[in-house]
Amino acid sequence: MHPHLWYPYTQAKTAPAPLKVKSAQGIWLELEDGRRLIDCISSWWVNLHGHAHPKIAAAIAEQASRLEQVIFAGFTHDPAEQVAEQLVKKLPANLNRVFYSDNGSTAVEVALKMAYQYWINQGQKRGTFIAFEGAYHGDTFGTMAVGARSLFTQVFADLLFEVEFVPFPATYWGDEPADRETQVLTEVRQRLESQPERYAGIIIEPLVQGAGGMRMCRTGFLQQLAALTRQHQSLLIFDEVMTGFGRTGDWFACLKAQVQPDIVCLSKGITGGFLPLSVTVCTEAIYEAFYSDDPTKTLYHGHSYTANPLGCAAALASWQLMVENESAFMTMETQHQRHLQELQDHSKVQRLRVTGTIAAMDVVTVDQPGYLNQIGPQIRQKAIQQGLLLRPLGQVLYLMPPYCITEAELAEVYTKIRRILDAL
Ligand SMILES: *Cc1c(COP(=O)(O)O)cnc(C)c1O
Repeated sequence: MHPHLWYPYTQAKTAPAPLKVKSAQGIWLELEDGRRLIDCISSWWVNLHGHAHPKIAAAIAEQASRLEQVIFAGFTHDPAEQVAEQLVKKLPANLNRVFYSDNGSTAVEVALKMAYQYWINQGQKRGTFIAFEGAYHGDTFGTMAVGARSLFTQVFADLLFEVEFVPFPATYWGDEPADRETQVLTEVRQRLESQPERYAGIIIEPLVQGAGGMRMCRTGFLQQLAALTRQHQSLLIFDEVMTGFGRTGDWFACLKAQVQPDIVCLSKGITGGFLPLSVTVCTEAIYEAFYSDDPTKTLYHGHSYTANPLGCAAALASWQLMVENESAFMTMETQHQRHLQELQDHSKVQRLRVTGTIAAMDVVTVDQPGYLNQIGPQIRQKAIQQGLLLRPLGQVLYLMPPYCITEAELAEVYTKIRRILDAL
């Protein structure tokens, strides 16, 4: 470990030394010692088109020589306007206003503040959110509060505001989740019906819960949840920080599920993995609740780097690459399916599942399932020996490759995964 660095999500005392990366290109990470690894997880889920894509690099360089940064209150700029226009054109028709911040957690914080103040501005105090067991929405206090009470948050539990959790109807190949879906929907309906004035909104990671273990639900469940929320005039927040920008096989999970949420949070893939940026996109109705001569109705939230022009330029270039390579993220699911089918009967895996570019399975172990399951670090080490960057979430082994991975390269990744599983 470096004498002056403190690494995220890392217990320095027991973690293996971090690997030094010299450069990266496409799907490849090149280490200082000459080894090469395939980045199977898009470097914490951000890298859409592979590393160091020349078009994004050029767009950032060009923008840097013109306007690198400017205060976004009282000033505006083309890149911020263009990103907003493209997002609004593609997202469901009801979503119309784009608020910038600079990471996924803050995108969700903004959504929570918007939802809460939306009611306050209309003279109602709705203080409670409904969230899902197993959820992860970020590491700031507000987002920890709406996330599952877990290992990550337990030390701060006393400082988190109260949230009501309902089960997430996760499913996988060979499972029939209809009864569980109905139960969850019944529970949500009962809450909304019995105390409609209590709930500011419902927040969910649509289609795939990420950090909670790549737990996947069905589109029909989201449609029914949206219908319920609308019927009871609450707000539906989609945290698409991970699922956005093609990950689920469509541009956004809300499009794939054909649902119109009231607020959508986007970050990870937005700049193709080059720069930190995020947006919270809401309906015009929410925006209008803040539009007033009364200064107390303002959304008093902002960050030093709000709508940073370099980030916006990267986002525009990344968007263009998505347009050009749409078929890559739309067809990856079929490839994952084929490879998962071949692994299906392997004695070390169960609960195989896939949504778009994300494939996942549970590795069979004797230990408790969960983030601390020791099979995770074991697989990570074996993967490095095989030339793969994998980072299982406890016993959950998943793939979320950059969209530029070829069929042959993905096949090679699966061959190596089989080798790793055989050796467990
Ligand atoms: C990663 C993630 C976040 C937090 O984003 P950061 O940029 O890490 O703060 C929030 N929600 C979901 C669904 C995520 O996957």
